[in-house]
Amino acid sequence: MGPFEFIKKHGEHEEVVFCYDANVGLKAIIAIHNTSLGPALGGTRMWNYKTEEEALTDVLRLSKGMTYKAAAAGLNLGGGKAVIIGDPRTQKTEGLFRAFGQYVNSLNGKYITAEDVGTGVQDMEHVYMETQWVTGIPKDFGGSGDPSPYTAHGVLMGIKAAAHEKLGTDSLKGMRVAVQGLGNVGSNLVKYLYEEGAKIIVSDIDQLRVKHHHDAYKCEVVAPDQILGVECEIQAPCALGAVVNDQTITQFKCKVIAGGANNQLAEPRHGDQLRELGILYAPDYVVNAGGLMNVFVELEGYSPDRAFEKTRKVYDNVKKVIEIAKRDNIGTHTAADRVAEERIETIGRLKQKHPGKSSRSFTTLKEVYNR
Ligand code: NAD
Repeated sequence: MGPFEFIKKHGEHEEVVFCYDANVGLKAIIAIHNTSLGPALGGTRMWNYKTEEEALTDVLRLSKGMTYKAAAAGLNLGGGKAVIIGDPRTQKTEGLFRAFGQYVNSLNGKYITAEDVGTGVQDMEHVYMETQWVTGIPKDFGGSGDPSPYTAHGVLMGIKAAAHEKLGTDSLKGMRVAVQGLGNVGSNLVKYLYEEGAKIIVSDIDQLRVKHHHDAYKCEVVAPDQILGVECEIQAPCALGAVVNDQTITQFKCKVIAGGANNQLAEPRHGDQLRELGILYAPDYVVNAGGLMNVFVELEGYSPDRAFEKTRKVYDNVKKVIEIAKRDNIGTHTAADRVAEERIETIGRLKQKHPGKSSRSFTTLKEVYNR
């Protein structure tokens, strides 16, 4: 299969840019999936891909995911993503990220980058030396820094919306909530749950993290292979993808699954199976959009209070998805896609007639926000 056919097979992407600079060893791909709602925003992943095909598959899949996440979050952003082929532990240089920044710059704001797996604030600082089209830059430069407290706050809102639907209350006082993974998102979520008065059950493969959360937030601790099967009202996966799969699906003893991890369903059919089992699944990309909302606020001139406020919208977004699922008699995972697709279509059509303020060419990041 040729590259064009390959790209088409993975979705109707608007543009795919191959970035190559032999002097600094740059091999990267930027994929812009859809800009109907606004410029394509999505992080840059650096990973030691075994083949270029693997890298291309990843960037096409991830950029499409960003389109859906932004659309369902109600943001005026499109979906894009970039991957740099290389080992993030040994192959990072200033030159590499500056050369990459020049490619980002050449897209004139159609794609806005940020940090992702394998890249960090320091790398974005180097990208920022070559282009303004970057978010997640250090706080000293007016950036928003670590997004995970905002992601976790959005997850809390998603949990509350799902609890309201399934358990008749959005108070989490006395509610048993299981949290898998105590990293950036999980540990912030535990803190919020503790403040809500929830009974928290945790698990992590890192024993130091487990001990800290047990001591600081009186969490019950279970082994990593036990967490998904614990008796609880809410499961909040905050570690790995594909936690709902053929092996785990019969283990769940919860009423709701709502967590921060990406790609929680191994396959869409597992979403349908959860529905048949009477477990309410709050779709991952709707629940974990708080981090994206946070970088969106950065486009305006960053304010932590406003970012925090914005993440409250996850509550309404999850509620909306649940309503559509009930209306159309479908699983919530399908309903989330429907919400995103409907918004892209409606607003996209609107913009074809009257590009007005939401025209796709921008000269500054601030303009993106002020559309
Ligand atoms: P992280 O690497 O900081 O934390 C992951 C944690 O999971 C680690 O503590 C790790 O030890 C633990 N873990 C790994 N395998 C485990 C297992 N089998 N059982 C229990 N714990 C295990 O990552 P993060 O930034 O907290 O992100 C967590 C998830 O949320 C990821 O899927 C990520 O893609 C998603 N997400 C994160 C953000 C963000 O703002 N950081 C935003 C959106 C989505």
